Amino acid sequence: MTRVAVIGAGPSGLSQLRAFQTEAQKGAKIPEIVCYEKQDDWGGLWNYTWRTGLDEYGEPVHCSMYRNLWSNGPKEVLEFADYTFEEHFGKPIASYPTRPVMLDYVTGRAKKADVRKWIRFRTPVRRVTYDADTGMFSVTVHDLFNDNEYTEKFDHVVVAIGHFSTPNAPHFDGIETFNGRVLHSHDLRDVHEFKDKDVLVVGASYSGEEIASQCWKYGCKSVTISFHKEPLGSYKWPDNIKEAALLKKVEKNTCTLEDGSTVDVDAIILCTGYKHHFPFMAKELKLRTANRFAPASLYKGVVFADNPKLFYLGMQDQSYTFTMFDVQAWYVRDVIMGRIRVPDRKARMTDVEDRVAREDASVKNLSDEICYQADYIKELIAETDYNFDVDATKEVFFQWVKHKDEKFLGFRDNCYKSAMTGNMSPLPHTPWKDNFDDSVESYLTE
Ligand SMILES: Cc1cc2nc3c(=O)[nH]c(=O)nc-3n(C[C@H](O)[C@H](O)[C@H](O)COP(=O)(O)OP(=O)(O)OC[C@H]3O[C@@H](n4cnc5c(N)ncnc54)[C@H](O)[C@@H]3O)c2cc1C
Repeated sequence: MTRVAVIGAGPSGLSQLRAFQTEAQKGAKIPEIVCYEKQDDWGGLWNYTWRTGLDEYGEPVHCSMYRNLWSNGPKEVLEFADYTFEEHFGKPIASYPTRPVMLDYVTGRAKKADVRKWIRFRTPVRRVTYDADTGMFSVTVHDLFNDNEYTEKFDHVVVAIGHFSTPNAPHFDGIETFNGRVLHSHDLRDVHEFKDKDVLVVGASYSGEEIASQCWKYGCKSVTISFHKEPLGSYKWPDNIKEAALLKKVEKNTCTLEDGSTVDVDAIILCTGYKHHFPFMAKELKLRTANRFAPASLYKGVVFADNPKLFYLGMQDQSYTFTMFDVQAWYVRDVIMGRIRVPDRKARMTDVEDRVAREDASVKNLSDEICYQADYIKELIAETDYNFDVDATKEVFFQWVKHKDEKFLGFRDNCYKSAMTGNMSPLPHTPWKDNFDDSVESYLTE
């Protein structure tokens, strides 16, 4: 029997399990699936832990989320086509779920599909190699519960470990002299510690803007957002948040920026992004790419061009998340099950080059990013039986962009129409800035 290893039981890995399970449900003969997950539970980044650094087994902590995180986009742009929020929660809910609500939803579908039995928890993958003679992969894993390393053979490997867990943390001149907390956003767990403090946030991408607004919500004295190239947009910040030039050097508590201005702060949070990091993949199987919408080396954005029996899910920069993982997983399933034919290496590389060129030529701003990824999703949908109204979700994205521009610290107080059910979500019962209860129970209260 064909054997498939899925590495990671975060949203992408769970999409892969669900893709196979839907076929099994219809009576199709599916391969044997083994999913290795290094954490003790599923949900990937959404599975919050208080730990930072190394976990209780000495493994790098995967979680990059802080406790009071809320979805940064409307749930209507990531809702599964085959399992709506309404089905999961039994009623329409507001559009910007808290982290526990998101975790409940993403794992709810997996629970219903009964795919947990395919997952081996606390089992990090240590090594993946490929033997061209046998056409098989060897996957070496560490069963941490029993402290036992073993190797198994597979016909296909699907890497679904995400790419927002290994920090990209550049050095800034003199940062070692700083007299306060310096941390990367990967290690941020709770912003209460910054109450009444002056904070420098370095980096103006999603993490930067989100963490700045989170610090504001939880009562910090001031936030300076130090950015590299582009300002965040036309956001109207309150008086105690300001955008400024990139950090140049640090001397004790004084930070000097590229334009020569200075700011004294109590803490520096590096929102400087993440690295694609696959230490367990053999050199010739390792994906090497920047964080972009058309990743290098991936035919159709998922098939490793140098070895079409190897797949990487969710490796692109993300406007779409859960639905994109689904269409990729459905596509990968159909390749593995022989329903989609992958062309030869030359054609695969041409496909990669075309995607990269198209992104370079057409993606200049947030709206372009959304359109580019929406087109990519449509392309994969055309080849599988996963389906939803991509244009309707695109419209929700455009409303989100407008709402962020209008009122960044209040964009979560809006609601949108589900492309899957056609129903309008209710407004939240409490504005985001006044709501400090992130529990599922509170979120579902009317
Ligand atoms: C701070 C932050 C906020 C975000 N907010 C949002 C948001 O609001 N909305 C949204 O849609 N998306 C958001 N995202 C994007 C996020 O990438 C996706 O929502 C989603 O979690 C990606 O799923 P994934 O399965 O690809 O990766 P992950 O969620 O990272 O899951 C990967 C899994 O692989 C496991 N793993 C890693 N290494 C190994 C190994 N060697 N062996 C076995 N298992 C391994 C990990 O333990 C983990 O469970 C956010 C990301 C970050 C960092």
